[in-house]
Amino acid sequence: MGETSRVLPPDLRVEYPRAARAAGCYLYDDQGREYLDGCSSAIAVNVGHGNPEILDAIRAQLDTITYCYRTQFANEPAERLAAELVRLAPGDLSHVQFTNSGSEGTEAAIRLALQYWQEVGRPERRLVVSRDVSYHGATLGALAVSGHEARRRPLAALLPDLPRAPRADCHRCPFGLTRDTCALDCASAVEQTILAAGPGNVAAFIMEPVVGAAGGAVPAPPGYLTAVAEICRRHDVLLIADEVMTGLGRTGRWFGVDAESVAPDLLVLGKGMSAGYLPIGAVLVDARIHAAIHDGSGTSALGHTYSANPLAAASAAAVVDFLVRYDVPARAARAGDRLRRGLAAVLAARGVAADVRGAGLLLGVDLTPHDPDRDHGVTAAALTAAAFEERLLIYPAGTDAVPRAVIVAPPLTITDAELDQLVDRFA
Ligand code: PLP
Repeated sequence: MGETSRVLPPDLRVEYPRAARAAGCYLYDDQGREYLDGCSSAIAVNVGHGNPEILDAIRAQLDTITYCYRTQFANEPAERLAAELVRLAPGDLSHVQFTNSGSEGTEAAIRLALQYWQEVGRPERRLVVSRDVSYHGATLGALAVSGHEARRRPLAALLPDLPRAPRADCHRCPFGLTRDTCALDCASAVEQTILAAGPGNVAAFIMEPVVGAAGGAVPAPPGYLTAVAEICRRHDVLLIADEVMTGLGRTGRWFGVDAESVAPDLLVLGKGMSAGYLPIGAVLVDARIHAAIHDGSGTSALGHTYSANPLAAASAAAVVDFLVRYDVPARAARAGDRLRRGLAAVLAARGVAADVRGAGLLLGVDLTPHDPDRDHGVTAAALTAAAFEERLLIYPAGTDAVPRAVIVAPPLTITDAELDQLVDRFA
């Protein structure tokens, strides 16, 4: 603090405290203040900060090889990581393309979906259907399929007008239904969107199993994932699961789609796979898509300079090993129940009407009441800033459509005592 920052920050008028160190669920700034990481920083640090097992794996890899280029060499850590991801993944996902971020993962999934249809002689299948109130990344292709108006706006002139289905959100159902009257109209609307675009023109449908940054940890209603997977199958549309936020244990299961045993054709990973150590993302590819490319052009040439780099792969492989060894997804499920009960109790005790929802340790608190007369006007940004004053990090979600939702998603390694401290600070 004090010196002028030359790093372009998200908000140019804010002077951010400087992070000096971090350990477990806490970060410390250069003034020695401690912050409880109630949102795994960007819902990424799933195995905690400074995890010794990950640091040891990175150190060991530094002594062997830190970089080689994917058109010249394969490498052991990337092979090991890919094999483990495929072993854990649902369905027949058989191969992995590595990227450096979740956004690039979305881009790669879109590219592979379009390439698949070109390889099998159906190049007219080139539209990607997505949903309102969704976020799949910051780059142009990923934004093109994101229902996040605020992030799209500055680049609107460059974004194609792709078909978008209504959101699935029980707290603010776009169809005005309640749990008693719900007939999964949100899933039927996906089919109507595909039909309106012409199924023969649609390459893929992309969705987050639990809507993260755009909506504030909004899980799909029961039956939705199964229904949309069946709709995709019926119309020969590839299903892309964006599990950048939900993947690898965050929701209390290995993958968000495991909630209904759905097998996507492409599955995107990022955040929790790196866990905040070294940047890496991935797209997992179904055997049918792999075979079509293998037996067709035989090339998947596009990629990035640092794709599958051994250092990041060794780090991510250690993250996945840690998740397996300590059965972290099951632990996230238990901790998520405790945290959800704690947050709901705090809000109820203060008479605040709020929806506390989510899955595992990906929880959202939406302060929008059903009764507009009870709207207190508190925005996600204001709540996040107030929490920061209490030295608690939470994540402001929300688009223009959902302005009052925050995400609470601490590291999956959080202890019960730390969870209770989180709830106290939130209170
Ligand atoms: N997909 C989802 C569901 C995300 O939540 C995000 C980031 O918030 C992304 C993709 C983009 O990932 P990255 O920020 O690593 O590019």
